[in-house]
Amino acid sequence: MTDDTLRIPIASLRGVGPKLHQRLADLGISTVESLLFHFPLRYQDRTRLTPIGAIQDGVEAVICAQVRAASIVPGRRRSLVVKVDDGSGLLTLRFFHFRQTQVNQMKPGITLSLFGQGRRSGAGTEMVHPEYRIGEDNTLLDEALTPIYPTVEGIGQAVWRNLTDQALKQIARHPPDDLLKPILDERFSLAEAISYLHRPPPGATLEAIRAWRHPAQIRLAKEELLAHQLSMRDLRAKERAFQAAMIEPDGQLQEGLLNQLAFIPTHAQTRVLQDILGDLAQPQPMLRLIQGDVGSGKTLVAALAALAAIEAGYQVALMAPTELLAEQHLRNFSQWLTPLGVELTWLSGKVKGKQRTATLAMIAKGEARLVVGTHALFQDAVVFSDLALVIIDEQHRFGVHQRLALTQKGANQGMPHQLVLTATPIPRTLSMLAYADLDCSIIDELPPGRTPVTTTLVDNQRRGEVIARVGQACREGRQAYWVCTLIEESEALDARPAETTAASLNEQLPDVSIGLIHGRLSSTEKEAVMAAFQAGDITLLVATTVIEVGVDVPNASLMIIENPERLGLAQLHQLRGRVGRGATASFCVLLYQSPLSHNGALRLNVMRESNDGFFIAEEDLRLRGPGELLGTRQTGLMAFRVAQLPEHEDLLEEVSQLADAVEKNYPHRCAQLMDRWTGERRAFARV
Ligand code: ADP
Ligand code: MG
Repeated sequence: MTDDTLRIPIASLRGVGPKLHQRLADLGISTVESLLFHFPLRYQDRTRLTPIGAIQDGVEAVICAQVRAASIVPGRRRSLVVKVDDGSGLLTLRFFHFRQTQVNQMKPGITLSLFGQGRRSGAGTEMVHPEYRIGEDNTLLDEALTPIYPTVEGIGQAVWRNLTDQALKQIARHPPDDLLKPILDERFSLAEAISYLHRPPPGATLEAIRAWRHPAQIRLAKEELLAHQLSMRDLRAKERAFQAAMIEPDGQLQEGLLNQLAFIPTHAQTRVLQDILGDLAQPQPMLRLIQGDVGSGKTLVAALAALAAIEAGYQVALMAPTELLAEQHLRNFSQWLTPLGVELTWLSGKVKGKQRTATLAMIAKGEARLVVGTHALFQDAVVFSDLALVIIDEQHRFGVHQRLALTQKGANQGMPHQLVLTATPIPRTLSMLAYADLDCSIIDELPPGRTPVTTTLVDNQRRGEVIARVGQACREGRQAYWVCTLIEESEALDARPAETTAASLNEQLPDVSIGLIHGRLSSTEKEAVMAAFQAGDITLLVATTVIEVGVDVPNASLMIIENPERLGLAQLHQLRGRVGRGATASFCVLLYQSPLSHNGALRLNVMRESNDGFFIAEEDLRLRGPGELLGTRQTGLMAFRVAQLPEHEDLLEEVSQLADAVEKNYPHRCAQLMDRWTGERRAFARV
């Protein structure tokens, strides 16, 4: 058999007219395959009767019981209330919309069959507007659990069920190939696993399905993760097949930088730099990810790599995800490189007109040796003369396509080498998935002399005490950050919350010198504020998170973060990393707004308990899921059809071995697997 069954266009299914066809196409569903890979979100259990005494809160159930009493209850919303009893307990039915014939039907003693969602409270068990039939009627019972599909307006559940019924018949008749046989010996074939999840039989363990641990889900998740893994490897192989410039400098510029530093690199930094220099000397493009905790010194490693390429006569591009981060890199790099005679060139979307033309000309002629900027570096108009190294600082996972767009800029010498820096650590399992196309080096050591930061959680109701303590610390000669969080990213340029806070702190701490920094200041203004803070002229710096305070002020040993519950753990960890850089004990106060959600409290506790970025990242994954962590929830990257993280993280090792086995023994299946699983994905409304 072949995959032909899966390729059948949905237009051939009964009931698919032009309108529905278009709606499904908008969701990326055009074949039996994409339809069947659209799995139910949850299931209703109508396969058996539930005794009233066993109804669970919020769970739907089919009941058969006798009417004890019925009455119309007056009130703001008049309702028909019917009490029923099945010997195991009493259930109240409530109808807000009803007709007189219904009232007449509900005679004490008659039997009702009904289906609805149970609500348990102190007042007893209730169902509002259940579906019902008079008498013992088993039409409310189904043979299989009833699937509920994620959907959009205009496609009802009945439509999904009808279409999937037809599609399931097709694959039952002509099962698609089991591409994992005989490598993987599982209880379920592909067709069986698909059928099981669309129509779980009576008695299926819904708990296991809800926990994503059912063998049918595991079977599909393994295949899906395998396909994903193979496509990352495929991408990597394609990139590695290009030529790259061999970079073998004498190392004079690197030495110049090292001589000028007030410290020596850690062992970890040296080791990671060796990995990079080894890659750069090869005729294939480097594809390397550098991970390291906040403050581990990734920037220095990147700067040394850049100098290697520049000394060998090539151009280097350094790209950051936001203008602010790119500016920060520009500042840091020029501090180190300008004394060595290496000029930096700035290019962002805001560089316009004559200046843009001039900048582009410098880049094209090769006069610009190190170009720093944002996505603007990707644009077609930007042509490099001899680009050999691209350094990408990723706040979140960039789309692979974006990276590819930049790699085509190295056409003269082939493809540029690529070095990806992550802003914060990524859990191992997640990097196995999202970064499988890259080699990874970890800076697993912090520079000496860092003191762990003590973190406390304080309710905003005790704000007054916190302000008093900040005032006292400042008077004792310490410096502090006061970080204001924004509700939405779109407010990134809104300075008001920080301005208001700074004004009120000024009032309450008149003897403390308070500075203010936010995204609306010009670069010159920002630099002036940061210089004053560095010099100690400002003791308390009020800042927004967008600043990410990329400056090192070892004397700053206290940080207050307002509304930390709004931020991800990775971002909190990144912010907190700005203190604890000097010899004095440092403190971070998370000034939260109560009441905290259960999850919010758990997350902030992780911050209190740990200073280890890798541990925090694992916890963030557990508490928030991978999309949030990689910043890809909106883009759909890492949105799997069946596979779930962290629930399926234990499968990844096996999947990686499976990928080796398939590549080795069944290479022709790789393309089939990728085709089957890595098609287009769209967002669905949750029902
Ligand atoms: P991150 O890995 O978070 O990007 P940075 O590169 O910003 O960290 O480095 C944090 C600070 O530590 C910077 O001020 C940097 O100059 C300093 N630094 C880097 N390496 C060392 C080292 N080996 N010893 C002491 N300080 C270092
Ligand atoms: Mg950094």
